[in-house]
Amino acid sequence: MAEEKRAFQAEVAKLLDIVVHSLYSNKEIFLRELVSNASDACDKLRYAAVTQPELLDGDGEFRIRLVPDKASRTLTVIDNGIGMNHDDLVDNLGTIARSGTAEYLKGLSGDAARDVTLIGQFGVGFYSAYMVAEKVVVESRKAGDAHGWRWESDGRGEFTVSPADGIARGATLILSLREGEDEFLEPATLRRIVKRYSDHIAIPVVLVEDGKDETVNAASALWTRAKADITPEQYKEFYHHVSHAFDEPWHTIHYKAEGAIEYTGLLFVPQSKPFDIFHPDRKQHVKLYVKRVFITDDCAELLPPYLRFVRGVVDSQDLPLNISREMLQHNPVLAKIKHGLVKRVLSELKKKAAEPDFATFWETFGAVLKEGIYEDFERRDDILEICRFRTTAGDGWTTLDEVAGRMKDGQDALYYATGDQMEALKKSPQLEGFRAKGIEVLLFTDPVDEFWVPAVGKWKDKELRSVNSSDVDLSAVKGDEAAEAAKPEAAAPADMDALIAALKLALDGKVADVRTSERLTESAVCLVAESGQMSIHLEKLLRAHRQMDSEMPRVLEINPRHALIKGLAARIKAAGAAADTEDMAFLLYDQARIVEGEPPLDAAAFSKRLAAVMARGL
Ligand code: ADP
Ligand code: MG
Repeated sequence: MAEEKRAFQAEVAKLLDIVVHSLYSNKEIFLRELVSNASDACDKLRYAAVTQPELLDGDGEFRIRLVPDKASRTLTVIDNGIGMNHDDLVDNLGTIARSGTAEYLKGLSGDAARDVTLIGQFGVGFYSAYMVAEKVVVESRKAGDAHGWRWESDGRGEFTVSPADGIARGATLILSLREGEDEFLEPATLRRIVKRYSDHIAIPVVLVEDGKDETVNAASALWTRAKADITPEQYKEFYHHVSHAFDEPWHTIHYKAEGAIEYTGLLFVPQSKPFDIFHPDRKQHVKLYVKRVFITDDCAELLPPYLRFVRGVVDSQDLPLNISREMLQHNPVLAKIKHGLVKRVLSELKKKAAEPDFATFWETFGAVLKEGIYEDFERRDDILEICRFRTTAGDGWTTLDEVAGRMKDGQDALYYATGDQMEALKKSPQLEGFRAKGIEVLLFTDPVDEFWVPAVGKWKDKELRSVNSSDVDLSAVKGDEAAEAAKPEAAAPADMDALIAALKLALDGKVADVRTSERLTESAVCLVAESGQMSIHLEKLLRAHRQMDSEMPRVLEINPRHALIKGLAARIKAAGAAADTEDMAFLLYDQARIVEGEPPLDAAAFSKRLAAVMARGL
């Protein structure tokens, strides 16, 4: 088979372009990425060899070697890990397979400064070699294969792959350094970089100088070391390695569970949101080790989906080394580890919740954690204790307990409003009556809120009730004096019966009912859900995801104290329905829809009616 020339996937080409032209600030991290990959490759082979020892072919002593050569101006990184065959080389070093990545990279703007920060969060892995190298050659032979392959590219659009003989098992990366990058040929520099970024790597990183080998990292698994011996820097670099992330860990949890089940957990909560956190194919990111042997980085049984933002490793003493991935499902030991991990993570979050920087976490991952409220019945209250909410009472975050503590005399439920956007929600007419009585309302804007709130129903003994449900009754609540005073003078409502009958007739089939409202003070109309009916916001979400195709008729509430409604009522009572009553009915209904964020029922008809009414008013 001759040399084969291929083009990089478009996203990779774009990424490489950015890497080469703008990621110049911290070039030395390329070595961390290559060492990290080499270490992963050794881990993979070690695991495969548990069941297929012949794969080791007599060489089970894993190591990563760095060979600088000033004469040829090359830096060579060699590992004896699992290696890559032809297809692995093409797929892994020519495309980006991680779920959601392609979409993510398509979002890059071409504005270098902005793109670099975006990519910084995402990580460039292998491609970071091109920050310092004008050409990279990868020679590799996969464990168990007789023949090897040679991959080569200058990072400009294309790469070649060809068969090669005499290749050692594992991967050898030969970097031809760019002009001016000679510092990466200096043993002292390499030593420093490895110490700084790769000390935690459990496999020896060996610097080869004048034919002499020198191990430059500590080469023991970081999580097995005593906490007191680990610096924050080392934790951070380990986090980068284990989670393929580039940000700072927001919180680090390192502990050893002893007793019936023994394991060590080194877990991180990231600072910034991983781009694929809501992607359907996202993986979980806690690696499972058994007695320091890497088993898998895709063990769905380790943490529940609502903790999928957690990164790190779990190393078990009790699982058998030759456990297969299939055996991990429904494994009782693993179930106990999971139980312990969840408990630990939640208790750490609860502790952190009392600290000022909790908002960083909450704003990043709150929406994910809230999935646990309905997914993990056993932990529901623990999770709710951690949850923070926005309310109408101020701009900060607050807890359900605090909101419950501020309930008014006569208030029989904790009220909440749901919507897509905080600012629009705050202005919702549904809140007017609550504001007038000084009642604090919880403001929910995460889609997940529509699911956990009905599933939970109450907090302690307080019912959670939507402001938008038709059985809101605020009459027993005495308002604040200030709020009462600010209220528009509560004129005795005019007789609404004739108007209601006329509106029902005109809007027959469009609305479930027409009623007078207690919750409106300034607006003329609003739409509410019948009690027990799906909320308007949830219906909108479902329609947006095409899980529902028709709208449910809602209740139109009219404000009997509003001048417009009073006027209409008086006119209809005196003269009966007129030619323009239907126009008025639809305009009121469309107005209520618009405030809910819905388009008018029929935009053309709406515009015609509005123009007609305005013309009559001239
Ligand atoms: P990531 O490490 O986040 O998966 P990289 O760009 O660093 O992304 O590497 C891409 C893939 O290339 C790896 O997932 C791995 O499959 C493969 N790879 C890279 N380096 C090596 C290596 N030294 N040995 C074997 N496979 C490797
Ligand atoms: Mg990598």
